[in-house]
Amino acid sequence: MAGERILVVEDEANIVNLVRAYLEREGFAVKTVTDGRAALQQAHATRPDLIILDLMLPGIDGLEVCRRLRQESDVYIIMLTAKTEEADRIVGLELGADDYLTKPFSPRELVARVKAVLRRRREGDGGGTRVTHESGTIVAGPLTIDLARRRVIKNGQLIDLTALEFELLHVFADDPGIVFSRAQLLQRVWGYDYVGDERVVDVHIGLLRKKIEADPSEPLLLKTVRGVGYKYDEEWRVASGEYYRPSPIAHRPSPIAHRPPKVAEP
Ligand code: CA
Repeated sequence: MAGERILVVEDEANIVNLVRAYLEREGFAVKTVTDGRAALQQAHATRPDLIILDLMLPGIDGLEVCRRLRQESDVYIIMLTAKTEEADRIVGLELGADDYLTKPFSPRELVARVKAVLRRRREGDGGGTRVTHESGTIVAGPLTIDLARRRVIKNGQLIDLTALEFELLHVFADDPGIVFSRAQLLQRVWGYDYVGDERVVDVHIGLLRKKIEADPSEPLLLKTVRGVGYKYDEEWRVASGEYYRPSPIAHRPSPIAHRPPKVAEP
């Protein structure tokens, strides 16, 4: 963990100092910049492992920084936003931020999230929380997921996913038909016991659908299960008769119990 590089983009000195102190205490190498232009230059030149990005910046604002970063990198981005910037927060996630914290935030919470994410990255895609294949390929309907190269192919075309989108898809494709709640996805993909806004999941599901579905508004692969969460559909795969998953995975019970309601004894 020591030496992993974190870029902090924030123009408020007291926040910068606080965040820097907490992160350096954990052994991270912290670089700070105070405006968007410097953020883009630093990100390009030093390739940080994670970026903490304030939304309200002088010059190029955080949203634009986020959008431009995503054009060249899938570095993990945590946005810092004010409570009043709810619309911007969603836009930020749609532009490619992986997560956000709302000001005022606890530095401990920020450090916990940073550590959780980077630990997962270090340990590969397993993270110790789910059964995974270190290598190999999952054929999930029209998608071929190459785990070693972390690539997804659909109809012969490479699909450009961020690291987080890849992990999200991997969770679903590993267990087609299993319904995952938002809380479970936050735990498995974002790597920590998340106490924030579960819409982070919805936004990233939406982004993933735009990339893998023929029609994101009528998803065939990544289905919404109302009131519960999401699942990767396995039914259509059987119906088409054409697609299959070559590596059989031992049956695991659904993480969500779907028991019939108890009927009172007469
Ligand atoms: Ca600011």
